[in-house]
Amino acid sequence: MCISLVPQPKSIKMLEGHAAYDTQCDRIIDVQMQPQAYVLKILPERIEIRAGSPQGLKYGETTLKQLCFCGGGQYPCLVIEDCPAFEWRSFHMDCARHFMPLDELKKMVHMASFFKFNRFHWHISDDQGWRIESERYPKLHQIGSRRQGDHFGDYDSDAWEGGYYTKAQVRELVAYCDSLGIQIVPEIDMPGHVSAILAAYPELGCNGAPVSVGTKAGIYWDILCAGKESTFEFIENLLVELLELFPGDTFHIGGDEAPKAHWKDCPHCRRRMEALGLENVGQLQGYMANRIAKFLKEKGRRAIAWNEASYGGNLDRDIVLQLWTEDKSGKVREHLKGGGQVILSEMLHSYCDYPYAFISLKSVYDADLASAALAGGGIGNIIGTECLAWSEYIRDVKTLEGLCWPRYAASAEVGWCGNDRPGYDSFAGRLENLFPAFALYGIEATQPDGWIPSEPEALKQLAAFQKNFPKEVMEGFAKAQEEV
Ligand SMILES: [Zn+2]
Repeated sequence: MCISLVPQPKSIKMLEGHAAYDTQCDRIIDVQMQPQAYVLKILPERIEIRAGSPQGLKYGETTLKQLCFCGGGQYPCLVIEDCPAFEWRSFHMDCARHFMPLDELKKMVHMASFFKFNRFHWHISDDQGWRIESERYPKLHQIGSRRQGDHFGDYDSDAWEGGYYTKAQVRELVAYCDSLGIQIVPEIDMPGHVSAILAAYPELGCNGAPVSVGTKAGIYWDILCAGKESTFEFIENLLVELLELFPGDTFHIGGDEAPKAHWKDCPHCRRRMEALGLENVGQLQGYMANRIAKFLKEKGRRAIAWNEASYGGNLDRDIVLQLWTEDKSGKVREHLKGGGQVILSEMLHSYCDYPYAFISLKSVYDADLASAALAGGGIGNIIGTECLAWSEYIRDVKTLEGLCWPRYAASAEVGWCGNDRPGYDSFAGRLENLFPAFALYGIEATQPDGWIPSEPEALKQLAAFQKNFPKEVMEGFAKAQEEV
């Protein structure tokens, strides 16, 4: 009988004999153990899961579930001692660019729990859509959740589309995640990627000019004004409303791709910079992030921000950075050297919206935890890992599932095993044995022959994907990046 588990446990000791699936299982909390650690003991007459917390017990139960895929109709007797390398293992979904039905989110969360993820980074606001019902600011969902057209990349439609999650649906999802040991980390991206917010409340921008909900991919120039006090009132009121929905201990405040050209010309932003003695707009973004993070801290939440938020060099050290791109001018490194922490989600090892030809299953598995971007920071500053699927070019759940799975499973093993991963070949073999689980969970995962695509298939995928990035789009992107 083969033992195929993903993520690979720290230690497996095989014993003689077998146990029936309905063997009595005792669950014991042992506070001496790490909260997420567990020991699973399967003996012919008795199964025992000993864990540091209810979360650890869940991981022991998940391991039991995976052992059912070994075949043979009964469990092999064994002792597994296990504990994750990283406390934080998140997967991400972008429901802003394209709305995804609640049932699909649940399916994804359910699948993620099978691979012992413990956080769901939920991207619910961006230029192209706001996705949560708000009583305090109802125009957010009334106006911000709908757009006329989808011109993302190589796609052209003028049809109206959109959608948002009611508060009842959000509560339902939070409870569902909680039952599976997964905490939602909501993200409201600011000060950039806010066209949907500005479409509803244009007075939050520097010049108050009307803004439409975006219908194209890319970086938008209109961002929240960091000078007006009313912007902060809006953010704080909104956060109060959202924190009531999301009881988790962390909140993602975005901070990526915010071109600050408007800030340079805005009298409010200039006045704020003068009053605070800030030297540049990068520092103004740092000030804004720090102020929001402080507000969240007072409410018992820790803030996460994308790496760009650190570029001003004045970001508070207790804001966790999510690293996705290069460390411009060594600011992430500085943040880490000062004791800051980071979630690792570098694009080339984590962005599962890219085709497999670009980021294969092996590329995700082989993520470098001591990457060049972190040199000088060190692995001790990493609290965890994340895999992501931005949805600019994902319009249906079948595409979503095929892109995420099984690459998300590779990320799960990176986060669970850290540098002690047994290697890609071992992983791929175990994953093939577990592959029937995807169908059982209702997920259309990419078949093994697509994990590292053949050359003709890879060329086909790349040609199709590159159609999304014509020259003028790339030029616009580069121009906006200069102001980030
Ligand atoms: Zn301004």
